Amino acid sequence: MINCHNTPAIIYVHPKTPMLFRCMLPMSVPAIINRISYPVVGYYPDELRLVDLNKVKIVLMDIHWYLSLNGALELAAYIKEKRSKIIIIAGGLTASLFADILVKNTPIDYIIRGDGEIPTARLVDELMNGKNIETIPNLVGKHEFVTPWSFKLSQEEINFNKYYDINFFPSFKHDTYKIHKFNSGWPVSIFPYLMSFRGCPVDCQNCVGGMSEQLMQFKRGPVFRTAENVKRDLEFLSDNKSITFANNHIDYVAFYEDKDVQSLFSRRYRLRIQHDFIKVPQKNILEMFLNSFSGGTIWFSMDKYHSTSEIIENPEKLIEAIKIVKSKKSYYPLIYYARRYLKANKEYRAALKYVVKKTNCSLYYSDFFWGDAPLPNKEGNGDMSEYARCMAMSQGQGNKFKAPKLLANGGLLVDRFLPCLSIPIRQLIYKCQNNLSLSFFK
Ligand code: SF4
Repeated sequence: MINCHNTPAIIYVHPKTPMLFRCMLPMSVPAIINRISYPVVGYYPDELRLVDLNKVKIVLMDIHWYLSLNGALELAAYIKEKRSKIIIIAGGLTASLFADILVKNTPIDYIIRGDGEIPTARLVDELMNGKNIETIPNLVGKHEFVTPWSFKLSQEEINFNKYYDINFFPSFKHDTYKIHKFNSGWPVSIFPYLMSFRGCPVDCQNCVGGMSEQLMQFKRGPVFRTAENVKRDLEFLSDNKSITFANNHIDYVAFYEDKDVQSLFSRRYRLRIQHDFIKVPQKNILEMFLNSFSGGTIWFSMDKYHSTSEIIENPEKLIEAIKIVKSKKSYYPLIYYARRYLKANKEYRAALKYVVKKTNCSLYYSDFFWGDAPLPNKEGNGDMSEYARCMAMSQGQGNKFKAPKLLANGGLLVDRFLPCLSIPIRQLIYKCQNNLSLSFFK
């Protein structure tokens, strides 16, 4: 725990989740906090002290992933038990989806629906000053209090956001920098995540980030951060010596114009990268991309929809791209695939086997990510049965994160104490998965 108790006016708490690391924070949290005009200090739940609760009027929390539900509600109950007058505000995908249920059935006072930048900062301002909150958009509160869901993130606002200033949350910053310091070259999915757009421009089914679901969940389509801002972000991160890698789970390369891609990769960044290619890039773009970073993991998908479909990617293109990545010694290519298609679809299985035979590339099954996220109805709301299902999962029922969590934390230990074994062990694990999956489904 880091000591930073210099009289915050507002507290932000990141609830406990069963996810891989406690320092996995929704990527927009820093941007939202950095817009608030009062001093905010971030804590993990076990750092909250009564002495701090006694000083503040407002507690903010994220309920972004459904896995945060149980932790957030335990936290809200604890806060209200200790100080009933504190106002609790929550936001994030899951909070937004279950807004009505949460304000009616839990101690949370306000939910911000959809994009939170302007509504959160305004709500905090008006509550601190005891003013009227009825003109603030996107709010749901107790006693049927609802304001129009009219704020939608614009390109101007996404460009303005400051995603990489994490000084408000000292323990998070400490955890994050420690993992970066000992990372051996295989990036971990923690801060920083590059923000190139909010809302995915691909329309996969099953994914709450996909275009159709997003229209219901956020009342808007994808919003892009301009390439010059992404370039500035990469330069900023590259200049921070405590940051050694960056994550890019959403592939801007496939969506930016060629001139922007060329400008982004016209220089070298002192960063390793974890990058998911949604589409196999052109050979020259891939070369430029790889030359811009110092190494990392490069993920391709066996299908054209980020492992959510059976529409197979062109195997020859995939093989060529994997060979290019393999030719650069500090990079490790992997292929995402869905085990359910491997089992059910002969062509899919044959294509995957063919690519593996030609490249000996490691595999990663991603059924894990998709398929159980709660989806909204036409009004953008989740119903009670979905809420109950998400709550059960956040309480650990059918906890699909147990084994990956053990492996992820084991990986950190190996990074710290046996760094020379770190990459070979990871490769071995992915290779075993290869062999097991492919031999099992003949
Ligand atoms: S599965 Fe991937 S590519 Fe598809 S909508 Fe979701 S984030 Fe976008």
